[in-house]
Amino acid sequence: DQAQPKKPAWIRVKAPTSAGYKDTREILKSNRLHTVCEEAGCPNVGECWSAGHATMMIMGEICTRGCSFCNIATGKPEALDAFEPGRVAQAVEKLGLRHVVLTSVDRDDLDDGGAEHFAQTIRAIRHRAPQATIEVLTPDFLKCPPSALETVVAARPDVFNHNLETVPGLYPAVRPGARYFHSLRLLQRVKELDPAMFTKSGIMVGLGEDRQGVLQVMDDMRAADIDFLTIGQYLQPTPKHHAVARFVTPEEFKGYETAAYGKGFLMVSATPLTRSSYHAGEGFARLRAA
Ligand code: SF4
Ligand code: SF4
Repeated sequence: DQAQPKKPAWIRVKAPTSAGYKDTREILKSNRLHTVCEEAGCPNVGECWSAGHATMMIMGEICTRGCSFCNIATGKPEALDAFEPGRVAQAVEKLGLRHVVLTSVDRDDLDDGGAEHFAQTIRAIRHRAPQATIEVLTPDFLKCPPSALETVVAARPDVFNHNLETVPGLYPAVRPGARYFHSLRLLQRVKELDPAMFTKSGIMVGLGEDRQGVLQVMDDMRAADIDFLTIGQYLQPTPKHHAVARFVTPEEFKGYETAAYGKGFLMVSATPLTRSSYHAGEGFARLRAA
């Protein structure tokens, strides 16, 4: 194992303390649903769940890819569960969620990459919980025909998110199996298909990139018409995962935020604890009200 830089004081993992936390967990468990909030041990879980935000993971817990930053198991996934969209919608309704992020493992084993399952889940939530805004955080549909992406866009989520995760030079080490320009093009295509849909992407920093590389990614994203940006500190889930190269300081994050707004992003979250879905609903609601 490589020696890891010491965790600085600004990376605090807050224990979930909210009163609603246990109830939320119960409802999710009884519907046999998985959240990234729990599975990834997200430090923001107490705050998000008490504010009515959660990130649901659909299509199982086994991924066909193996990204070096991610703690999800790689292997042969199980068959899709046709009742899952209904259970997700029921949980969103019961929890009274205001904003739900739907994400999934990569399903390179399915012809459409799981696009139809995403679409069914969006439609089921719209039906049962029309108050909730819906953000999808999708795989890259790398091996799928163009109709896969079109299926998800046609279901009209409020926000279409797909993370670039890191600078292109680190893809072979961090995101093997993915292609930087394919992911960018995917987001650009969403905007072409539905210009009214908000698009969003994010990267982690502290993986070994430099500032110039991050600024270049921002330019690439704006060239692809991406509206929202998230930047957060990478944390190593286990010693087997990609090493943390460094901890980016809060001042550097502030600098990224300023640069990003200067480049024309509509909404930016860049802090050490920013996660792709952190405060996603709040900023979005503000923007819609404006
Ligand atoms: Fe869940 Fe995202 Fe909030 Fe973390 S930041 S608790 S993953 S909604
Ligand atoms: Fe994790 Fe997504 Fe990579 Fe699968 S594709 S290993 S879920 S980051």
